[in-house]
Amino acid sequence: MKVLAKSPWAVHFNCNSCNGCDIEFLACLTPLYDLERFGVLHIGNPKHADILVVTGSVNHRNARVLENVYIQVPDPKVVVAIGVCTSTGGIFADCYNILGGIDKVIPVDVFVPGCPPRPEAIIDGMVQSLAKLEAKRAGKKVEPARKPTFTFRPPAEAEAPVTPSPAGSAGRGGKE
Ligand code: SF4
Repeated sequence: MKVLAKSPWAVHFNCNSCNGCDIEFLACLTPLYDLERFGVLHIGNPKHADILVVTGSVNHRNARVLENVYIQVPDPKVVVAIGVCTSTGGIFADCYNILGGIDKVIPVDVFVPGCPPRPEAIIDGMVQSLAKLEAKRAGKKVEPARKPTFTFRPPAEAEAPVTPSPAGSAGRGGKE
């Protein structure tokens, strides 16, 4: 790719994930999906990384840890948020300890929607992040990503209390 000045290195942080997104990200690193063909190397130290890949939502305990990992990645850097949990809290959004998406703590450059996203979608998000990284390296202003609004909350009518059926009436399917 022309936009690559060097091979960007990516560090992965599981913020509060159920591991579904992590498994899909790991699939991207296998020879089948081969993320490395875009020059991306997976590393374990944020101080050596250019891309911070985050899975899961933010809670009261891990918000400071996420911020700490973000600060350790040297500038210029990009953040790729994988899965709906990273954008809205996803299936955990209503839990007592959840703050919401990771953009409540750190800026996000690319959101990859899905629960979990397929490896193809993750690779697409990573390639988008490479272009943003290159723009940052060139000193250009890069706008934060537009946040997806999808949540797992059921529609209001599904939350309405169930009214018991009158005594003697037929049950489900009307076969009684
Ligand atoms: S988006 Fe879905 S698969 Fe990914 S961490 Fe959240 S619940 Fe798990």
